[in-house]
Amino acid sequence: MKDVPNILWLEEIRKEDISSVGGKGASLGEMASIGLPVPPAFVVTAQAFRRFLVETGLDQKIFKVSDNLDVEDNAALEKAADTIKALVIKSKMPSAIKDDIKASYKKMSQKDLIVAVRSSATAEDLPDASFAGQQDTYLNIKGEAALLTSVQNCWASLYGARAIYYRAKQGFEDSTVNIAVVVQQLVHSEKAGVMFTSHPISGEPITIIEGSWGLGEAVVSGSVSPDHYVFDQRTESIAETTIANKKVEIVPDGSHGTKLVAVDAARQDAQVLADAEVAKLAMYGKIAENHYGVPQDVEWGIVAGTIYILQSRPITTIGKKEATGMSGQNKDAKILLKGQGAAPGTATGKVVIIRDAKDTGAVKEGDILVTRMTNPDMVPAMRKVAAIVTDEGGMTCHAAIVSRELGTPAVVGTKTGTQQLKNGQLVTVDGELGLVYEGAVGGAAKAGSAAPVVVGSAPVITATSVKVNVSIPEAAARAAVTGADGVGLLRIEHLILGLNKTPGWYISNHKEEEFVKELYDGIKIVLDAFPGKTVWVRTLDAPTDEFRNMAGGENEPLEHNPMLGWRGIRRDLQSPDQFRLQVEAFKRLWKAGYEHLGVMFPMVSHPDQFIKAKEMMRDWGVDVENVELGIMIEIPASAIMIEDFLQAGIKFASFGTNDLIQYTIAIDRNNENVADMYNPQHPAVLTLIHNSIQKCREYGVECSICGQAGSDPKMAVWLVEHGISSISANIDAIAKIREAVARTEKRIILEAARNRDAE
Ligand code: PEP
Ligand code: MG
Repeated sequence: MKDVPNILWLEEIRKEDISSVGGKGASLGEMASIGLPVPPAFVVTAQAFRRFLVETGLDQKIFKVSDNLDVEDNAALEKAADTIKALVIKSKMPSAIKDDIKASYKKMSQKDLIVAVRSSATAEDLPDASFAGQQDTYLNIKGEAALLTSVQNCWASLYGARAIYYRAKQGFEDSTVNIAVVVQQLVHSEKAGVMFTSHPISGEPITIIEGSWGLGEAVVSGSVSPDHYVFDQRTESIAETTIANKKVEIVPDGSHGTKLVAVDAARQDAQVLADAEVAKLAMYGKIAENHYGVPQDVEWGIVAGTIYILQSRPITTIGKKEATGMSGQNKDAKILLKGQGAAPGTATGKVVIIRDAKDTGAVKEGDILVTRMTNPDMVPAMRKVAAIVTDEGGMTCHAAIVSRELGTPAVVGTKTGTQQLKNGQLVTVDGELGLVYEGAVGGAAKAGSAAPVVVGSAPVITATSVKVNVSIPEAAARAAVTGADGVGLLRIEHLILGLNKTPGWYISNHKEEEFVKELYDGIKIVLDAFPGKTVWVRTLDAPTDEFRNMAGGENEPLEHNPMLGWRGIRRDLQSPDQFRLQVEAFKRLWKAGYEHLGVMFPMVSHPDQFIKAKEMMRDWGVDVENVELGIMIEIPASAIMIEDFLQAGIKFASFGTNDLIQYTIAIDRNNENVADMYNPQHPAVLTLIHNSIQKCREYGVECSICGQAGSDPKMAVWLVEHGISSISANIDAIAKIREAVARTEKRIILEAARNRDAE
């Protein structure tokens, strides 16, 4: 090992120094070297750590504990990890290293500066830096003593049970691993966010910036709907500014990390970034992109008018299985469970089994949530976890829909997950192939990382609109960056179920206004994310059993088969109070200028229901002829009677294939025992779809699909060939659907041209 000092400053670091400063240190150094305003930092080098081990004799002591350790023996592994960590933490840091750290800290600022202390794994030893990210980070560190302790804690975190296990599996010698520690001024951003340096879908030179108040975590995690700025690099001007209603922000919480607080009224609708800040950020984005040669996903923060660039990495792409090390089934790993791959992505973490929604307090950031079936009160826990595994359900169950929107890998319908897996067990979930492996496998994404959604590719323009489905407003921003042509389905029941009170509860407690406001605000977030593009908001469609655990749920009727029960438009027509409150929210949104809102009625089985719903809306003051009202085709009756609906004046129709399939071939969509018979391409289903498309075309009415089948490229090909006008897919499927649609359209045109030539 060459003679590297204990400390290296960012300005001194070059790419080649990765073995001394680790991946994080090297990338910060590189950013600083190209002139990006990175917060000041120094790195306690890997060589300092090595000197610490040698001078304290720890290298020998650690070797004694880890030699011959059977890493498959969980208890022995945990014990060894605890012993080594304690040794590292308790050993006295050699005074030369201590003095160097103290002197550097002082050089950063004479006063006790608040810093972040982060482990930076050295790529030489841990090539998969993403997995290595499990080593510790300490925020809000102030004062020499706390700094020295944190550095030592970072060093100790190299010997966590998972890290030892991973290294053993990857064949790394524990005696040679190294770690560097980055000490960086903590930026308590007053405003912060993310930036795509080029358009994430089309690759156009358009910089997209999203920002909100407080720390950037709020934007990254999707807890807030941020302001949206578009800067056109060709004209060097701001092309678009959309100001969102920013209800919450994440702020530092003393020494306890961070907390989520409400944004005061004055700032909620205020513009976060001044035009000059947008332009400056876009310029930094350009510098980063030019330097790295590919579009970047940048995190930034602003304090007292100073912009800081916190991180820059290439925009991740959809089909990036190789990059996660999970290209196809991993043959050497032990498969514990098989189910349906419901939300793509891979993740490794510890199992936490939840048998009752009220026990979700046990769920920690980065865990693997294992449960019989998720329900709406579990959504807060679902936001935290690295992956989700359920016993029950298919591709259209609650867990599948919400996981896809959160970008969390999920495997559903494993039948025995809650019985076979054990609390605390380390597993790897592959949400694409529907597999759960034992242990950490193939460098899966580190716990907590979401499946990437966006793709950098050539612009794809299709004649068939490609729209996106949204169920939870916090997914709106992720949905919007796909560049979708609108929202083909906004399921508002997820919004209501998240409130944990039934609509009936609001009505009987005279809190109608509160209910309308919740609906208004939730829908508005989605409308704001899709300016000028149609958003079809569906009226309430929650089966009675989904309301059961909520306040007011005790008054829901007990139904033997809720799928065939009191849901959708049939319930709204019989419950005018409930329907009226939804219409009230729509009316206010139309009045506020959201003309691109369309309303879609679910579970319609007869044109009379459409006519009645429209009449009720007219009675409540809606200009029904001038707003877009349409239906879901999800009951065979509505497909068979499509012409009657068209004559009744529907403005659009959308196939809800999740239900259309189950009602056509009598296969429960959520029953894993018959999941293999749930066939979206059953000839009877295809006939219903084909006939309906033809009729809609005759009447010049938009015909779409928003069921899960629309997210399958093969089905998309068939639909385009049969003349569908638009396809609404899941966020994660947009790019591949767009490509399938474009290819099919081109093939159709080419074949037509060839046929003409041959005539
Ligand atoms: C459908 O039935 O295909 C649909 C989109 O609606 P949901 O999944 O909410 O029943
Ligand atoms: Mg449905």
